[in-house]
Amino acid sequence: MRSVALSSNESLANLLKEERRFAPPAALAAAANVTADAYGEAKADRLAFWAEQARRLNWAKEPTETLDWSNPPFAKWFADGELNVAYNCVDRHVEAGLGDRVAIHFEGEPGDTRTITYAQLHEEVSRAANALLELGVAKGDRVAIYMPMIPEAAVAMLACARIGAPHSVVFGGFSADAVSSRIQDADAKLVITADGGYRRGKATALKPAIDEAVQSCPQVEHVLVVRRTGQETAWTEGRDVWWHEITERQSAEHTAEAHAAEHPLFILYTSGTTGKPKGILHTTGGYLTQASYTHNAVFDLKPETDVYWCTADIGWVTGHSYIVYGPLSNGATQVMYEGTPDTPHQGRFWEIVQKYGVTILYTAPTAIRTFMKWGDDIPAKFDLSSLRVLGSVGEPINPEAWVWYREHIGGGRTPIVDTWWQTETGAIMISPLPGVTETKPGSAQVPLPGIAATVVDDEAHEVPNGSGGYLVLTEPWPSMLRTIWGDDQRYIDTYWSRFEGRYFAGDGAKKDEDGDIWLLGRVDDVMLVSGHNISTTEVESALVSHPQVAEAAVVGATDATTGQAIVAFVILRGTAQDSDELTAELRDHVAKVLGPIAKPKRILTVSELPKTRSGKIMRRLLRDVAENREVGDVTTLADTTVMDLIQSKLPAAP
Ligand code: ATP
Ligand code: MG
Repeated sequence: MRSVALSSNESLANLLKEERRFAPPAALAAAANVTADAYGEAKADRLAFWAEQARRLNWAKEPTETLDWSNPPFAKWFADGELNVAYNCVDRHVEAGLGDRVAIHFEGEPGDTRTITYAQLHEEVSRAANALLELGVAKGDRVAIYMPMIPEAAVAMLACARIGAPHSVVFGGFSADAVSSRIQDADAKLVITADGGYRRGKATALKPAIDEAVQSCPQVEHVLVVRRTGQETAWTEGRDVWWHEITERQSAEHTAEAHAAEHPLFILYTSGTTGKPKGILHTTGGYLTQASYTHNAVFDLKPETDVYWCTADIGWVTGHSYIVYGPLSNGATQVMYEGTPDTPHQGRFWEIVQKYGVTILYTAPTAIRTFMKWGDDIPAKFDLSSLRVLGSVGEPINPEAWVWYREHIGGGRTPIVDTWWQTETGAIMISPLPGVTETKPGSAQVPLPGIAATVVDDEAHEVPNGSGGYLVLTEPWPSMLRTIWGDDQRYIDTYWSRFEGRYFAGDGAKKDEDGDIWLLGRVDDVMLVSGHNISTTEVESALVSHPQVAEAAVVGATDATTGQAIVAFVILRGTAQDSDELTAELRDHVAKVLGPIAKPKRILTVSELPKTRSGKIMRRLLRDVAENREVGDVTTLADTTVMDLIQSKLPAAP
């Protein structure tokens, strides 16, 4: 991993000037779940604030302690409390008389649908929990989950949580090797998978990858297989078990035992944008408290009337916290969609919003930029008037994409919440509140109530407003990772060693004149040009603000005269044609928006960018290309042929 030191007098250049502002809609503000008072309350007594939020949950044994930070950086939250996560996400809603409320509107890619109420979810989770017990899974055993986006994925996670068996969900698109190393690292004894799932209009097999993966995982006793596609599936007698066969014969009753607040809930490997994935460990009480609180606060969820839809995959932390644990603990009604946004047509998402009357939509900048590229006319064909809050997560959102999202999806009405967080933080940390914050396109803006974040320079001094540096979290928070699975030392080294007593997020950020936070990209990606630290995000956003550009990725390549030179890879919008004139125009455009220092030395138009499976741009691979090196580890790349395509386009280095 490459790391650039930001010297204190040369902190990230504050180049981008974004002056558009959007006030919260008056009606939303008047009825908002969380008002500006929350910031004050949390500031007055942060721990009391979180103890209060913990009361959102149903505890079998109420905690009397809030935070134990006596052995930093190993935190314990609500340590003497006991609760069951699945009970909180399912049973308690049924007990409160809400059993008929829809929990999940499932939309399969081929168009098949299922409606699952909380009462039905309760039955399914109970049967699945009993099935796990029959298969010999005990409290504390790890279970790997490798599934398509179908309701059974959520049921499997909840069943694990119910019996206290930490799950490790591995994204269903990963290779056998990637799954195998994650199963081994977590030492899982059961794998839950499916015969296949539907993607891009066809049934894609999943089980063969597991068959291959478990060959090098002797500790795996059983493979539990959901039948989704009905395709031909190889079978190992004695090891493989059909989900429908084993769950059918189970009792629909299962009494949820309470687990200690610090009992492990799940391990999740980071998406691997910057290097080798880390097994992030989350525990029970603090995690659920913050997932639940933030889902209620940031999306202003009204469970009686809202229809919520998060388009993430369950294999990422967003799917954990904002499809399963946050929404279900809040009794939300949500949409779950199995497939891709362009199957069978590029309006599929908007058709789903219209069909279910989705009111809250949570998606990623990569998707928004793709929709921009496809054209404004596609969402315009659908009735999107039900939408009232839009969310973004995963990468910095370019201001132009933000404004497009608000205009073309949100009808110019909806607040946008740009939510900054990580696998490690477990839940949203920095975000506007839709009924409170006057939003700024491209900025995540303010730490949530109860969260302490700031920007520091190399010497750990907080930077003044108007300057950039490193994003740090200065106080522990309930849903923080507890460690890296099996590697406490790596946990300390990665997050707690760069700045004494502060969590180092690995992201560059700046504070604007109002003290609001703007994320500037990975510290590993920061460019050093003629002695100035320049943010990849800002140059990319400048490129995307040109009407011909849909998407851009920028890297710093070693340069004899300037130290590093800016090399940009751009994807043009629908009809735009690649030409020397356009490239020259784009270079001038960046110079005009950000200043001559940020003018890219080279611009290459490409048709795709290398992205992780979760849709994040992998700049380190582009840097390898720009520096004429062999490209590094591509195992977490969504499409490995992309790099060959890009390299074939590349003229010899000047
Ligand atoms: P790895 O840590 O293995 O390199 P990763 O960081 O991509 O993988 P995640 O935990 O999925 O894995 O991603 C968290 C990162 O995503 C953050 O550190 C940040 O760089 C980026 N990110 C997420 N949301 C936002 C946002 N709203 N604005 C800016 N950046 C964001
Ligand atoms: Mg990360």
